[in-house]
Amino acid sequence: MNAITLDRAAERGAIVNGLSVDVEAWFQVGAFESVIERDEWSCLDDRVTRNVEAILDLFDEVGAKATFFTLGWIAHRHASLLRRIAARGHELASHGWDHQRVFRMDRVSFGADIERAQKAIEDAGGQRVTGYRAPSFSIDQRTPWAFMELAERGYHYSSSVAPVAHDHYGWADAPRFAFKPLPWTDLVELPVTTALLAGKRVAAGGGGFFRVLPYAFSRWAIRQVNRREHRPAIFYFHPWEIDPGQPRVAGAPLKSRLRHYTKLEHMAPKLRQLIREFEWGRMDVLAHREAVRLEREARIPA
Ligand SMILES: [Zn+2]
Repeated sequence: MNAITLDRAAERGAIVNGLSVDVEAWFQVGAFESVIERDEWSCLDDRVTRNVEAILDLFDEVGAKATFFTLGWIAHRHASLLRRIAARGHELASHGWDHQRVFRMDRVSFGADIERAQKAIEDAGGQRVTGYRAPSFSIDQRTPWAFMELAERGYHYSSSVAPVAHDHYGWADAPRFAFKPLPWTDLVELPVTTALLAGKRVAAGGGGFFRVLPYAFSRWAIRQVNRREHRPAIFYFHPWEIDPGQPRVAGAPLKSRLRHYTKLEHMAPKLRQLIREFEWGRMDVLAHREAVRLEREARIPA
């Protein structure tokens, strides 16, 4: 089990990083929302099963456990796939119902969205859901109620903040590492990894950056975080990123198409290298470890 892997790595003094997959279909990404309507989704081949199966095989091959932040919409349609993810030792967590960004909702609609998603994922996977990742890292300074809603619903952790300036998302001055957004609750936020390049924060936690930039950049960034800052990195990718055969969306903006389709064929070998080179584990285990560290630091003033 992962806890044992993690303890062995921890005994060696290695930092165990958080490995995550955001389970959504190629047509559900923010980049294509202006071209593909939500009511067209159910007519399209989502290719999720074949892509997730390939990811499960890759994780088994390198002996890594991970967290699958899954859309409720996907869970509802792929119950047996979710059971297989859980049976192979991975964590199932929530990515919301249908990829609606949090800052486009109010507190009531956000509550309804995560409740519907949680139920679908728990019904399909048979595991309790205690982790959440906002679509497109959309928890930021505009949504102070989102953490309250997650805490009140019993979530243990969120990994929904990108502490960096980006054209589609980002909360540039949020903490770069695990923090308790509401000091009176136990909820832990695990922001996606950034590295410091000439004193500036740069996104280094996966997605398009990992796929498009040379592998050496990610290696440098994660080493910096682990060895110099002594913190775990949080890395994420999507099932469609290992799928060069996915349909091409005509009519999407050129920038979106460039970002979405670049180097898909290099993704699987690159992932294999990354997972082999560093220690990786589930996000719930990491959240627990970070919560203990935050508690300890709060008791011992610097
Ligand atoms: Zn997503």
